[in-house]
Amino acid sequence: MGTIRNIWRVNLKDCIFCNLDPSRIEKENTYALSFKDLYPVTKGHTLFIPKRHVQSFFDLNSNEKEAIFELLELEREKLIQQDSLITGFNIGINDGPDAGQTVMHCHVHLIPRRNGDMSDPRGGVRGVIPEKQSYLRNN
Ligand code: 5GP
Ligand code: ZN
Repeated sequence: MGTIRNIWRVNLKDCIFCNLDPSRIEKENTYALSFKDLYPVTKGHTLFIPKRHVQSFFDLNSNEKEAIFELLELEREKLIQQDSLITGFNIGINDGPDAGQTVMHCHVHLIPRRNGDMSDPRGGVRGVIPEKQSYLRNN
């Protein structure tokens, strides 16, 4: 474990995710780790990152993608065990500043959803352009 963290620490000095307080880490495997979002969209909002500093999802190698997906599945399982009100999830990646990325260390968002947490959830991630969220309203 120590070795893995040391490898991780050779990454960028000014990146908040490379320098995450180890006590905030929730789950970890060889190439990825997860931690709770500091400003959660909903309760349980969790982020998944490669240990290696890369900006884009498309810079990840196959080991890193597999590692992130493994942690995503484990966290989903844990969340639904912990909270029976969770009835769905949004899984998202903001890839590049123009797509909304504000922390330039690749991360996947897992956002638990609960029935009624907003009045009309239809369209989900289409809400990145708010007026296009529901194609049902716009066609
Ligand atoms: P982005 O906008 O790049 O897709 O997402 C960045 C995410 O990082 C946001 O959801 C934001 O709440 C979260 N965030 C920003 N600063 C910190 C931090 O210092 N610690 C943690 N855990 N999350 C952060
Ligand atoms: Zn980083």
